[in-house]
Amino acid sequence: MSDPIVSIKGITKRFPGVIAVDDVNVDIKENEFFALLGPSGCGKTTLLRIIAGFETPTEGAILIDGEDMSVTPPNRRPVNMVFQSYAVFPHMTVSDNVAYGLKVVGTPAAEIGPRVKEALEMVQLDHLGERKPDQLSGGQRQRVALARALVKQPKVLLLDEPLSALDAKLRESMQLELARLQQTIGITFIIVTHDQDEALSMADRIAVMDKGAITQIATPEVLYEQPNSRFVADFIGKVNLFDGTVTGAQGKAVKVDVAGLGSLAIPHDSEASGKVSLAVRPEKIKLSKTKPKAGLIATSGKIADWAYYGNTSHMYIETPDDLRIAVNIQNESRDTVDHVDIGDTVWLSWRPEDTLLLAE
Ligand code: ADP
Ligand code: MG
Repeated sequence: MSDPIVSIKGITKRFPGVIAVDDVNVDIKENEFFALLGPSGCGKTTLLRIIAGFETPTEGAILIDGEDMSVTPPNRRPVNMVFQSYAVFPHMTVSDNVAYGLKVVGTPAAEIGPRVKEALEMVQLDHLGERKPDQLSGGQRQRVALARALVKQPKVLLLDEPLSALDAKLRESMQLELARLQQTIGITFIIVTHDQDEALSMADRIAVMDKGAITQIATPEVLYEQPNSRFVADFIGKVNLFDGTVTGAQGKAVKVDVAGLGSLAIPHDSEASGKVSLAVRPEKIKLSKTKPKAGLIATSGKIADWAYYGNTSHMYIETPDDLRIAVNIQNESRDTVDHVDIGDTVWLSWRPEDTLLLAE
């Protein structure tokens, strides 16, 4: 593996009464699109500000391109930050906004023009250089902020919830655009977001944070398919969680008692004991009117709620043992559940191998 561009080594940040970042260790690779994902208050912004140099860690060190940044001020670090509220100067044209950061560090005038042009081309604003920010849409203003950061040619671009001020539709198209931009210019992006869809759709790897600490670092697929904890399973996508108790082993499976589902044999690589959680994604569950074949995990229940989303339907099934189970159905394949309605009794089933065993 090539040397990491950013090494976060044992970073802890304490504020009076709170540990904002708790012993975080991550290596971020060159050209990687890396996301820090977690609920509000989990320490994402603090960690990003420590990388940028706006905040001093209580413990630990940041290395950028192999160099310890401990005594390097923000303006001397090869990084640039795009803030949540994208500050642009309202009285300056788009071009002047982008040129500003070069002028203040004394970049030769002859160099400024071409670099501004190049940065505006990257964000597809080259035709709007003479406009003022108030003549732009929200998405275009956001791109001006991006161009202002990119024109400094950082090795790493830090983005703190950069799309949170945009409406849902625009946010989705900007997600695709950011991902494409990162691929085209090939610099490392570190993005902070509390929005799992945003992280899943853009990032090569995601670090999930909870209360200052990193819970899991993985690709979007691995986070979704193999979350390492109840917290990650619950935070990434929708999931049904069942409380269980391990009663023993059976070959390569662990025997787990779950109230309402019985004694289940769940394939599992490592040892498990005591209280555990079982997790199953709503789209792994099949609905049927007749009793499913043996070998599947199954229960019957009443359809309690049914939300129609055009391409999919989300159903909630309530069992006699008071389990409430979410099931997602592709409406295209609705024929399998035709003629069922709210209040009907149906069977639910899923494969043991689609069930994740998570330690509490
Ligand atoms: P996030 O970006 O994930 O929402 P933050 O990094 O902003 O989280 O905050 C993490 C925790 O640190 C929160 O409890 C927050 O209140 C606290 N915090 C952040 N900045 C400061 C500060 N300057 N002084 C005191 N507490 C802070
Ligand atoms: Mg934040």
